[in-house]
Amino acid sequence: MTDKKFIDDLEKNIKSTIRDYHLLSKTDNIVVACSGGKDSIAVLYLLKKFGYDVSALILDLEIGNWSKKNLDNSYAFCDEHDIKLHRICAKDELGFSIEHLMSCVKAKKAVENCTVCGVIKRWLINKKARELGAGKLVTGHNLDDEAQTVFMNILKGNPLLSAGMGPKSGVGAQDMFVQRVKPLYFCTDAELKRYTVIMGFRILYAKCPLSGTVFRRDIKNCLDNFEKDYPDVKRNIVRKYLEMKPALARAQEDKEKGKIKRCSVCGEPARGDICKACEMIGLV
Ligand SMILES: [Zn+2]
Repeated sequence: MTDKKFIDDLEKNIKSTIRDYHLLSKTDNIVVACSGGKDSIAVLYLLKKFGYDVSALILDLEIGNWSKKNLDNSYAFCDEHDIKLHRICAKDELGFSIEHLMSCVKAKKAVENCTVCGVIKRWLINKKARELGAGKLVTGHNLDDEAQTVFMNILKGNPLLSAGMGPKSGVGAQDMFVQRVKPLYFCTDAELKRYTVIMGFRILYAKCPLSGTVFRRDIKNCLDNFEKDYPDVKRNIVRKYLEMKPALARAQEDKEKGKIKRCSVCGEPARGDICKACEMIGLV
């Protein structure tokens, strides 16, 4: 396939995801959660190109040179494309570094770095996006990410964990969560890599040096291997998940009826008395 045809198809795919799932409107104040990686840079570029009102929000985790390069790339990209970039620094918000938090939490609980980071990221980015008056929070999640998570939740024996996923994510407590949407939902990792290479965006393709989630990596390798013999296996997982999502969401609502409340420490949404982020911070 020629590069031009590939780009046209990818852009059509994203436009139809936005349209079919009612993800965004031209009057929305849209904040894109930007890591500086290929997915968030691609979605930022395309939403701006499609005429949406976008700004970028980067959470600086200050993980050595990796964060520095991603931050530099994000500033250079946003500068070149006339996009406002908001930066929050994890250390300023928490009072200590994310690496310190990881080591404290892991000393007391069997969790992976990516789990700690994921909880803190969602918590800080949701708070900041709300402060910025965002109507929608865009993330760069793609088809590979979603297929991996759906599959992981089944293997963990808890498919209900997937209830709040999908192109428009989140269940319950909607007024406290900025609506999160995923325009790249039906784009594969490989397609996004090809797209950003063709476009010549300055991107660091290396993974975070602290990411060591063994389970997700195994699932990724497993699905990548499956796909060699059974093409479309990832797309099938996601398609089947979307068919089951209404039933999963109903089951989740029944289970959690009235249970989403405000965290007694920070006021953010929580399933228990305190939210997951405050629970982790309490271990420092
Ligand atoms: Zn809290």
